[in-house]
Amino acid sequence: MRRINVPVLIVGGGGCGLCSSIFLSDMGVEHHLVERHASTSVLPKAHYLNQRTMEIARSHGFADTIYAVGAPMERFGHIQWVTSLGGDGPLDRRRFHEFDGFGGGSLAERYWRDSPCMSSNYPQLRLEPLLRQTAEERAPESIHFGHEVVSWEQQPEGVLAEIHDRAADETYEVLATYVIAADGGKTFGPALGVEMVGPTNMVDMVSTHFAADLSDYADDDSMITWSINAEGQGSWTSGALVKMGPTWNRHSEEWVIHFAFRPDDPARFDEEAIVPRLRELLKLPDLEIEVFKVSHWILDRIVAERFRVGSIFLAGDAAHRQPPTTGLGLNGAIHDAHNLCWKLAEVLAGRASDALLDSYEAERKPVSEDNADWALSAFTNFAVVDVAMGLLPGAPVEANVAAMQQFFAEDRVGASKRARFAEVINTQRMEFHAHDIEIGFSYDNGALVADGTPAPSRDPLGVEYTPTTRPGHRLPHAWIEQDGQRISTHDLVRPGAFALITDADGAEWLRAAETVAAETGVTIHTAVIGTGGAADLDGQWATDSELQAGGAVLVRPDQHVGWRSATLVSSPLQALREAIASILIHQVPAPA
Ligand SMILES: Cc1cc2nc3c(=O)[nH]c(=O)nc-3n(C[C@H](O)[C@H](O)[C@H](O)COP(=O)(O)OP(=O)(O)OC[C@H]3O[C@@H](n4cnc5c(N)ncnc54)[C@H](O)[C@@H]3O)c2cc1C
Repeated sequence: MRRINVPVLIVGGGGCGLCSSIFLSDMGVEHHLVERHASTSVLPKAHYLNQRTMEIARSHGFADTIYAVGAPMERFGHIQWVTSLGGDGPLDRRRFHEFDGFGGGSLAERYWRDSPCMSSNYPQLRLEPLLRQTAEERAPESIHFGHEVVSWEQQPEGVLAEIHDRAADETYEVLATYVIAADGGKTFGPALGVEMVGPTNMVDMVSTHFAADLSDYADDDSMITWSINAEGQGSWTSGALVKMGPTWNRHSEEWVIHFAFRPDDPARFDEEAIVPRLRELLKLPDLEIEVFKVSHWILDRIVAERFRVGSIFLAGDAAHRQPPTTGLGLNGAIHDAHNLCWKLAEVLAGRASDALLDSYEAERKPVSEDNADWALSAFTNFAVVDVAMGLLPGAPVEANVAAMQQFFAEDRVGASKRARFAEVINTQRMEFHAHDIEIGFSYDNGALVADGTPAPSRDPLGVEYTPTTRPGHRLPHAWIEQDGQRISTHDLVRPGAFALITDADGAEWLRAAETVAAETGVTIHTAVIGTGGAADLDGQWATDSELQAGGAVLVRPDQHVGWRSATLVSSPLQALREAIASILIHQVPAPA
């Protein structure tokens, strides 16, 4: 049988696998990606790409491609709540709340302060072809759709996988030093017996992707329209309507509506019932609907007990699955790939020991557990919102109708209920304003040198983000001017390279970086911010860097801080040697 030897086999051509390919290509790592389907996913799934994801896309040169086609911020940074889209009853078509979200409107200033780029919104079924094209452009021979891993075994020299090329009906072998199992949890994890820990099978959600003209009922600015009405009995059962574009206003050609069934509801797989149910949910009995796809997904909050088994790394949905609230699924999958790929590049180039790869689990598992808990909390918080409106799930419809009548009554009771609702719904900012969850996550243990400082306290609702250069945290963004160009501190960190940032008093660090780079082969770009170097345009770096004169920060290729020294030390060369050696887990070279 034909055999290919390759450093990395990527299994899965979803968001995680395709981004892994792009990242590895940018670092010159040869790989072979297989996806069993002939095309990218036909399911709409994710649509929100958070700021961290867009920062990563920016540093790998594909953010502008997404911005060019995704919804502009003024068309997605908003959420509204209605009783129903249609209908002409006294409780119908009431728009009773709205919210800025995802960095839009009132949030924009804060989001722009903390990042060189904004979040975006582009449905996964449109995003994946774009990622596929980018991956194919960068590694034309490496991307293989319609190819399935049918069997595999771990061997001393790596993983030997048997792959079936469906179109050619041909089977071949790939011997890979490492495997990124970005397979959505379909293949490697279950076969390896990796337990997915956490509650599962909580709710059966149905997502229906359809075309319809809703321009007489929808608005231009809200990406998500939540319905809460007495008949639906609550947020998840009344449905959430999401624009799918490609036109990003009320004339959106395509839509998705998500709503929940109880897992034991016999009607849940009755496809015939879906269109009537949709019309009922929207209260538009005569609406012409063309259904593209009805998909069921089970609400889980599960995280793999292990992210690494031998030479195999579980990433994306293979490692964690959580409710879609806060959009941490696809985003987290891309962050996994970003964390893992630079480490693979260093190890495969012989600049780091294999033990560096253990830090992938040490770093990403706690963050994934946090994200999964967060997503579930944001999901269940909708029940609080429903009750705040006066609805009791399971109560007779008449009781809930009466509660809603009270809610909208122009009297003291109605005013009080609406005021209570306004306070309670504000807690849902844990989902729509989750700025700290999105960019403030950090690693406590892993490929970093802890400096003993305490982590900044975190906002319990996940909104307020505190910039810090404490090791393990994402490098704070600040605008600087270098060689006449306004760039972000993030631009100092290029794919596959470390960056050392210091000030005018830190010249010795620069010499040390040059020596350590020569000794280890590790690429370390250097930058001086302040006198004699790049201008700190808004003074933001001076505040957020937390460095004193002569201090330095060493940033890993994934833009997370690996080490810092608040001041100049007596032997910068030794300090930097030890820092790089600890991060890459190899011996400190003997002084020349
Ligand atoms: C309704 C809904 C809304 C969501 N909204 C959001 C959101 O707003 N933001 C967000 O971040 N996330 C969201 N998510 C989650 C997001 O869609 C997933 O987290 C994301 O798709 C995970 O990507 P992945 O690449 O890890 O896995 P997948 O997309 O599942 O890709 C895995 C791929 O591996 C392939 N594969 C499996 N086994 C093999 C094999 N043996 N050989 C070859 N190929 C194989 C599969 O065919 C599949 O294409 C949402 C999910 C749903 C269901």
